[in-house]
Parts: sequence; C-alpha cells; structure tokens
Amino acid sequence: MSSPAKKRKKDTSDSIPQRSIASFFQGQDQAARKAGTIEESLSDEALARKLQAEWNQEEDSATFQENGTTKEPTLDPFTPNDESLEPPKKAAKKHTLSLQSSAGTEDTISLAIPLDESPLTFDSAKYAGELKTHWAAEDGHASYALLTRAFVLANATRSRIRIVDTLVNFLRILVEADPSSVLPAVWLTTNSISPPYEELELGLGGSSISKALKKIYGLDNQGLKSLYDKHGDAGDVAFEAKKRQSFTLMKPKPLKINGVYQSLQKIAASKGNGSQETKQRIVEKLLQDARGAEESRYIVRTLVQNLRIGAVKTTMLIALARALSMSKPVGAEFSIYSQHELSRLKKEDLSGIYNNAEEIVKASYARHPNYNALVPCLLEIGISEELLLRCGLQLHIPLRPMLGSITRDLSEMLTKLQGREFSCEYKYDGQRAQIHCDEQGRVSIFSRHLENMTDKYPDLVSLVPEIRGESVSSFILEGEVVAVDQETGELQTFQVLTNRAKKNVDIGAIKINVCLFAFDLMYLNGAPLLDRPFRERRELLRSIFVEIPYRFTWVKSLDATSAESETVLEFFKGATDKKCEGIMVKVLDNIAKPNPDEQTNPPTNTTATEPPKGSRRKALLSTYEPDKRLESWLKVKKDYSASSETLDLIPIAGWHGNGRKAKWWSPILLAVRNPETGTLEAVTKCMSGFTDKFYQANKAKYSEGSTNVISRPSYVEYYGEPDIWFEPQEVWEMAFADITLSPTYTAAIGLVSDERGLSLRFPRFLKVREDKSIDEATTSDYLALLWRKQSERARLEEDAQIADQAKSEGLDE
Ligand code: ATP
Repeated sequence: MSSPAKKRKKDTSDSIPQRSIASFFQGQDQAARKAGTIEESLSDEALARKLQAEWNQEEDSATFQENGTTKEPTLDPFTPNDESLEPPKKAAKKHTLSLQSSAGTEDTISLAIPLDESPLTFDSAKYAGELKTHWAAEDGHASYALLTRAFVLANATRSRIRIVDTLVNFLRILVEADPSSVLPAVWLTTNSISPPYEELELGLGGSSISKALKKIYGLDNQGLKSLYDKHGDAGDVAFEAKKRQSFTLMKPKPLKINGVYQSLQKIAASKGNGSQETKQRIVEKLLQDARGAEESRYIVRTLVQNLRIGAVKTTMLIALARALSMSKPVGAEFSIYSQHELSRLKKEDLSGIYNNAEEIVKASYARHPNYNALVPCLLEIGISEELLLRCGLQLHIPLRPMLGSITRDLSEMLTKLQGREFSCEYKYDGQRAQIHCDEQGRVSIFSRHLENMTDKYPDLVSLVPEIRGESVSSFILEGEVVAVDQETGELQTFQVLTNRAKKNVDIGAIKINVCLFAFDLMYLNGAPLLDRPFRERRELLRSIFVEIPYRFTWVKSLDATSAESETVLEFFKGATDKKCEGIMVKVLDNIAKPNPDEQTNPPTNTTATEPPKGSRRKALLSTYEPDKRLESWLKVKKDYSASSETLDLIPIAGWHGNGRKAKWWSPILLAVRNPETGTLEAVTKCMSGFTDKFYQANKAKYSEGSTNVISRPSYVEYYGEPDIWFEPQEVWEMAFADITLSPTYTAAIGLVSDERGLSLRFPRFLKVREDKSIDEATTSDYLALLWRKQSERARLEEDAQIADQAKSEGLDE
C-alpha cells in the first residue's frame, strides 16, 4: 500500500491552481538563498505568511509600476476547502499560495454519523453505503475521521454501554464497507501495535512530540509551555494548537485508518542510525495531515500511548463479538442475526446471544492473544466455536494465565471450598513463567504479562531436554521461577531475583541461580489439556517430567478438604516459614466427591456438589481457565487479615513537608487507576512508612524542574491543589486500616456512591513494586470490591454480635 506521502504527491499533481508543498519549500529555499539564510525555525504558517507577503509585495510593486496604483495584499484565509468550489484554473493567480482555513477541513460526513446510537436501531448499511462512496473518491479505505468520531463519542461518556455501542456501530460500518480496515482500527483503538510478546515499541520521547507540535502548528517554546501548563495532556495541547492554527498550507489528503497504523509500525520498525529523524518525520507528517483539531488530539494521544477513551481489551472483545454477530463482509458466508430479529427479542434472550458470542471471542483471545490472528479469522468465519480451533492455543504464543481470587484468611478459604477436595500449594515469591517447547525442542518462555523472556532464562531453556520425559514431544507448562541457593536449595527472596538482568543473559555469567517450581500443564504432545480437571493435569505433569534437584521440581502441595483445617493451618505455617507468601488453593476435580467427614458436620445450606442455596455462584470447575480470576484458585497470603489487605497505588503528587520533613515531599498523594476512563483517581495522602532515606530519594527523583515533574495533568481526578505533580510512573504497595467513603477523594466514585469516592484510613507505605507497571496498579473497581467485602464483613460481625447478645440474654429460641 502506498504511504500517505506518496498518495499526497500523486494527488497534488492534478490539483489545479495551488502550489504544492514541494514547490512551496522550493520557493522558500530560493527566497532564503536570496536572503542568504534558511529559516528553519519558522512554522509552515509563518513561512507561508512571510513568503506570501513577499510575493504580494513583488506583485504590488509590479502592478504599481504598470498602473501607478497600490493594492491590498491578497492573503485570503477563506479559500474554500471543498475541491468542487475551487476557482477554475484560469482564475488562478500567479504567485498565490493556497492557504486553507484549517477549521473547515474536517470530514463532515463522518462527523454526522450517530455512532453512539443503539446498535439495534443504527442503520449501518445506510452509513456504510454513504461512506463507501465518499471513500471511493480517495483510495477506497476507511478514513481516520470515522475512527476519530468514534473516539470523540467514546470519550464523551462514562457509560460503558455507550462506549460499547459506539465501537459496535463503528466496527459494523468497517466490516460492511472496508473490512481491511478492521484490524488496524482494532490496534489503534486498543492503543497498541503488537501483542505483548512481540515487543514492538514506538520509542518516541515526549520531546519529539513537542518538537513536532512546535514545527507543524507554529508554536514557540513559550506558547507550547503555556498550553501544556493549561491542559497537561499532550493530546489536548495538540487539539488547542490545531484549533488556533487558522491556516494550513493546503487541504491535506485525509488520513486513513490503515495509513495511520502503518505509520506507527514504521515508527516502531525504525532502528539504528538516523532512526530518530525518520520517526520525527513520520510524526510530523501525521500531525500535518490531521484534519481538524480532534484528529490532531487523537493522533497525539496515540503517539504518547494514552488514548483515554475507556476502550480496554475487554470492551474491544465485546464490541467485536457483537459487531460480527450483526454484520459480515460482502461475500462472507457465515450467518448473522438481523437487526430486526434482535430488536424483537426479550432482554434476557438478547443478552444470552451477546454473552455467548462474547464468551467465544474472549476465550479465543485468552488462548491466542493477538488481534492479527483473531480479526482475520472473525471476518472469515464469524462467531462460531470453530474460532477456538482456528485461533486457539498454539505453541510459542503465550496464553493469558489463569488467576487466583483473594481471600481474607484461611477460614474464608475453607468456607468457600466446603465440600470440595483441593490442593494447597506453596505460593512462592518469584516470577511466573510459561514454558513452551515444540517437537523440535525449540523453547519459549513467557512472563505473567506475556512478555517473551526466553533470553532472560537461558539456564531454564537448557534444562528442557533434561526435564522432558521420553514420552513428551511438545508441551506448555507453568511454574514459578524462584531464586535459590544452588548448594542448599534454600529459597531466596523476590528481591534477589530482580537483580538478574532482564535480557540477553549469558548462561556462563549467571550469578543468580533459579529453580522452576512447576504447578500446571496446559498442553501436551499436540493436544490442549485446558478442559481436563486439575487433578489429571497435575498427575500428567508429575509423572512424565523429570525433577532435577534445586533446578526443576513441583510446587510443594497438600491435598485436603475443609474438614482438615488443622493440617491446612500447619501447611500454611510451613509455607510462610519457608519465606513463601502464603498458599494457593486449587480445586482438584470438576465434581466434588462426597466427603464422609463433612457430611456428618454439613456446612450450612450446602451439599457436597452444589454451591450454597440462594447463591448465584456457578459450581466451581477445576479446568484451566485462561485469563479468568475464579474461585477455583484461591490465594491465601500471610499478611491477609481484616486490616492488612494491601493495595498497589500510584504516587501522583506531593506537598512540601513540615518540620523535620521540610526538605522532602510529605504527604504524598496516591491514586488508583480507572481502566474504563483511563484516568487516575486520588485515593489517599500518605506520610507513614517512609524512611528518611526513602524521602530523600523521592525528593531527588521528583525535584522541581526535573522531567519527572509535570503540570497538573488532566487525567488525574482530584479536587485539591498539591504543591507538585509527579509524572505517574511507579507503583507502591500500601497497607491501610480500612476503606472509608470520602467527600474529598474521587477513587471509585460512581461505583459505591454517586457523590462520594473511597479513601483509606491510616495508609502506610510498604514497598515499591518494582515488578509492576502503572497499568498493573489497583483499579477503582477492585477498590470498590474490597469496600463491599469490608461492608459485608462488618454486617456479618454485627449479626454475630447481635446473635451472641441474644444468646446470652436467652432470646435465641
Ligand atoms: P495476580 O497474578 O493474581 O494478578 P498479583 O500479581 O498481585 O496477582 P499475587 O497475588 O502475589 O500476584 O499472586 C499470584 C501469583 O502467585 C501468580 O501469578 C504466580 O506468579 C504466583 N505463584 C506462586 N506460587 C504459585 C502456585 N503454586 N500456583 C499459582 N501461582 C503461584
């Protein structure tokens, strides 16, 4: 596909009276040569004005010489932007630089589409038809203007339903009018360019965006700074700058969805000498070609990778599932629901259809998390179980790991798993690893967040031939990599492991030795094992792989039931004595076996195979469920108790300290993240748990004038005025006494109360989570969940107190 640059060149050749950008720069060059200097620092607009003034002067003096009269300069800001309205060739004036009013260059067709309407009434066929004709005048591909329209509408609402509806309608138009743009649109909307295991990065610094903004929108340093100070967000700065730019040199060819995505790929692919200049040119071209202020805003937000439209991965998967249930590309053979049919269904039946489609798409993505595989498959076969075969588990593609739910303590875990047989396993404090090995013996290792870390663990790679039993040809297994003492096998802390280099580790130079404690087997000899019960997967793992002392072994485990609470407690103590974080508890079988002990002492209202009466919980399965946090895996950590739950918060601002702390930032403001809106919501101020050394380092890191300090960011939700704002970049683990409703803090606002947010009582800093990026910080909905749990606990305790009181007063009968 031709690049936007090529396309534009071709187009201007037949446009009539205008000077091309190339000829403009030629003119500028000549003029500059005349003046003996090239004025690189002037913006397009400034240069255009200057040059035009010079030409006008030349013409005026010529006219004056001819007629003996003077004339007003002819710089006309209102040159019509619609090509059909352009003056005919003969009317073109020599030496008239065609400037366009930038305000009028937006795509009015896309702007008028009600993408946020309910998909049950949205007339996708009509709009797809209109847009197809509109796009046919260019290269037939979907315009970035349509995507911008979707972004603007998604950004304008906090309602997830609206965001999903907008994306569904947008995707339906693409599916019907230009299916080839669906995949690039999905990447752009999810603000990524490749799956996590492919490590493609834009590698653009903030300075290159600023440089481009100055150059393209004619800002000087001061102008840019005052916009940043006012708006904080680079995209909002671009929006304002573009709005103020009253002219563009000429009407740019519209940006296309696929063109923008290709530009991002080119930026990411450009490496080595001269790559910064190449990247810079592409960024500038994108900004130059953006039509209208909103396009500029979203181009820049895309470049700084902070789109903030609340369309996270799950939203996109839901939107794809619904769009492909209702629309298909011309010529595709799969069946879809008609809008008419869906709109007549009862609410529950409609959700049933949607849920089914969403489960299939989510399950496929959890097994094969790459839109490059998912989207083409969806466009070809639509929503069908076949998707899981065509785009499912595959060697060397990491599946999204199954996750454990938290429990407060052992007794909560025992209550939850009453009636089930489970395995308690040491919860090692290391790094989760997914190991893939194919028939040829090629090995890949992936992290919890799906990054490829094969280069980090050459020692594990070299172990594979030894651990792979004779009957094993290919496999995917999972375990925890822990730093261990090679002489004694003693477990070392996570901190020790973090000292190991992250990339290109030379096997001969390894100083920090590791052991892999394997706990699951998901694929064996060409067949997925996800649907097999955990007991069976574990049995296979332990019987056909070979242990190597201190290097590869199984997690230490104990099989038990809730009736054996003493033994479980002993095991838990053993785990914590061995420096483990606690235990992971996993349901062993899909159907619970009746347990004689528990039948004599039955838990309230439950039988061995059913969830508690009145409970809406599904019976727990022991299958491996990628990307799900179910109660068939429970975490019991040593520091979990009613008051020592911890949160992973992002430090975002600070105040000048008082007294002894006057030199430092204290208190420090912390936030949770809201993945729906992309904002950070302030949750608490903290001034406890920090050492002086820590305060010192913190002050050095966030010193006034450093790049880690920013002006008030628009993506932070907080009513107060701290003395300094930190560039959000780290995650701190925090302890606290309890969660309270607050009129000051905005965390989780709308989730538990419309007016009040949530805050923490007695927050205390524990440690920096070096292993977590801000994307992995605690979310507002998780905080809301903890608050609900806390309220529930309080209610139960109150009930118990009342019951006790009633008992002691003899009122219980
Ligand atoms: P999560 O990974 O559940 O999102 P998190 O990153 O906060 O949460 P933890 O709550 O500390 O992590 O616990 C989960 C992690 O514990 C797993 O991802 C895995 O790395 C580790 N782990 C250690 N031992 C085991 C085990 N026996 N079974 C499963 N996971 C284990």
